Amino acid sequence: MARITLDNLAHSYLAHPQSEADFALKPATMTWRDGGAYALLGSSGCGKTTLLNIISGLVRPSQGRVLFGERDVTTLPTAARNIAQVFQFPVVYDTMSVRDNLAFPLKNRGLPAAQIAERVGAIARMIGMEGELDRRARGLTADAKQKISLGRGMVRKDVNAILFDEPLTVIDPHMKWELRSQLKALHREFGHTMIYVTHDQTEALTFADEVVVMSEGRVVQSGTPQSLFDRPAHTFVGYFIGTPGMNLLPAQLDGATALVEGQPVTLAGAYAPVTGRVQIGIRPDAVRLSAGGAGLPFQLARVEDVGRHRILRGTVVGHPFNVTVPEGVAIPAGADRVTFDPARIGVFVDDWRVEPL
Ligand code: ATP
Repeated sequence: MARITLDNLAHSYLAHPQSEADFALKPATMTWRDGGAYALLGSSGCGKTTLLNIISGLVRPSQGRVLFGERDVTTLPTAARNIAQVFQFPVVYDTMSVRDNLAFPLKNRGLPAAQIAERVGAIARMIGMEGELDRRARGLTADAKQKISLGRGMVRKDVNAILFDEPLTVIDPHMKWELRSQLKALHREFGHTMIYVTHDQTEALTFADEVVVMSEGRVVQSGTPQSLFDRPAHTFVGYFIGTPGMNLLPAQLDGATALVEGQPVTLAGAYAPVTGRVQIGIRPDAVRLSAGGAGLPFQLARVEDVGRHRILRGTVVGHPFNVTVPEGVAIPAGADRVTFDPARIGVFVDDWRVEPL
């Protein structure tokens, strides 16, 4: 296992990039600790796979270095990096049995047969295929083949890192949940450094200790799932994380007050010297609803019942605005006002979070 350092790493697929927009990965510097579980999260095309492929050696970066521990691996081929990879689609040897597929990376390393058998047995239990070890891979469903790919990716204990690129895409939804918790259990047991690319926030937030959120080639924030939820550094993180995401309202800042279309909202403190136009961000679960009284006017459009809570979709002075109300909590009749706990309001200038004085 190894600590992974990205040192001023950037990549453009163009031979002669002209501007920042030409970079699929904009300069990123960070360190991922040995044994950490990380998720790279962002929408399609934001550069997640590019970053993962630089770490695995499939892409040579235009600039910067990748270190495993103290060792600079930037120019090493994939085969020399001692990593395991699991891709979006299954990579299995059709003519081999499930057992031989799982054992392949261990046989390659020349491990004793008894150790191989023990390890293959443990991994087969994890992926729920212990009864199918003698079946040939050919003829298995895509779902089963992908489970074999996952198992093969995790079978070795001595890799520097395991890299996953959207590994659960082809997996049946019921099995997804199961495999996610199995991955987590495996991480706890063996402490591999794991990097997991996904565009699915549930996958990222349940799998990782730390989530790296990317947008348009840039790492916009890296932190624990809770910190991304509580203190998004950028409006994109606020909006992208959470179901539904953070409400954003344009406002005029005046000391410790934000004016939303001229109506005052009290903030946790003064933001001087920041003045002028900002956005305030409020999580849908941080909203108090009332009928009449103080607060911003809320116009309810519809209520969606999603089980553990209801989502009230509507607008605040013309801007889309969602409120969540937990199951068992009454929605006030005729609710048309929203108020907020000042401590839970984020203030964003040019999309980046600012803190009060
Ligand atoms: P997805 O989830 O769709 O795979 P992603 O977040 O992993 O998206 P990348 O695949 O890293 O994003 O792509 C980032 C950008 O780089 C995109 O604009 C993509 O079109 C571009 N890109 C990716 N691979 C290449 C390539 N081999 N040649 C040229 N451009 C590429």
